[in-house]
Amino acid sequence: MSTQLVDPFGRSIEYVRLSVTDRCDLRCSYCMPKGFRDFEEPEHWLRFDEIERVIAAFARLGARRIRLTGGEPLVRKGLPELAASLARLPGVEDLSLSTNATRLARHALALRQAGVSRLNISLDTLRPERFKAITGGKLDKVLDGIRAAGDAGFAPIKLNMVIMKGVNEDEVDDMVQFCIDHGLTLRFIETMPMGDTGRVATDQYVDLQDVKARLGRRFELIPGMMPGGGPARYVQVAGTELRIGFITPISQHFCATCNRVRLSVDGTLYLCLGQEDKLELRPLLRAGISDTELEEAIHGAIARKPERHEFREKPEQVLRFMSMTGG
Ligand code: SAM
Ligand code: SF4
Repeated sequence: MSTQLVDPFGRSIEYVRLSVTDRCDLRCSYCMPKGFRDFEEPEHWLRFDEIERVIAAFARLGARRIRLTGGEPLVRKGLPELAASLARLPGVEDLSLSTNATRLARHALALRQAGVSRLNISLDTLRPERFKAITGGKLDKVLDGIRAAGDAGFAPIKLNMVIMKGVNEDEVDDMVQFCIDHGLTLRFIETMPMGDTGRVATDQYVDLQDVKARLGRRFELIPGMMPGGGPARYVQVAGTELRIGFITPISQHFCATCNRVRLSVDGTLYLCLGQEDKLELRPLLRAGISDTELEEAIHGAIARKPERHEFREKPEQVLRFMSMTGG
């Protein structure tokens, strides 16, 4: 058995977020600039066999959870086939997907059959005009995708809502009701200063502690739990099945319990969402590195994992957009 991954701060690394593409069919205002097309060249994308090799190495080193993300993962051709091969890797216990759901209606069943067990879907508004303004896309497609995911048997389905002042802050209650009606889990997210788009969005920053306090005046909130490896803190709305998660990288950062790293489409292993520390795996893979050397390289990277992000202290620091890292 290979030695497990523990970083210098005693944190076990057991979760890999795998960005299978930096492309996307939407342009969410806080994530990617309108009209952006400066994407990674296809010859720089890790091939599926290369991805499998890296994830197999992580699994031998104790990683149990893998999340497919992007960009929009469903724009990468053959995603269900990749998912099936990752789900079969020894040691992988939990394979999940983050998606904007525009293409989910077509792929939900295949993903479920491939072994994807949990879904996170981004949805910031229930109003078509507003959805168009925030993302450039059509809300109907997302709602169709959510329905298809339920029909395919995904449970739980978590909706991720980035809350922005003057944009969608007034829809918190509507979203709560929508999730109660449709049996979904709801998670609110604070805007993060990733790239110029993220920095502009932080002008619309809303402290989720305030949102929680407001919800607490309207609903009886009791402590809640949800499966998953992430940083959300949950409450349950009493008398309903609804669980609400708060992802608060800014108002209450959760770095002390960080258990994850991120692999981008070009094979860069990012050690922290909010720092530049990384390991370029593609050149090593393409130079014919052995499995043992690959494991050693991963261990070496984990030994350099930063203690925490500095979104508050150095908001100008991270140049890459969230879509490039695998948010
Ligand atoms: N395209 C997929 C989606 O939208 O779910 C997966 C990738 S997306 C980059 C992952 C998550 O990052 C989404 O929930 C999105 O809302 C969030 N995100 C992107 N940019 C962000 C920012 N600047 N601040 C906070 N969350 C952000
Ligand atoms: Fe695309 Fe997701 Fe970024 Fe929106 S948040 S632009 S859907 S990658």
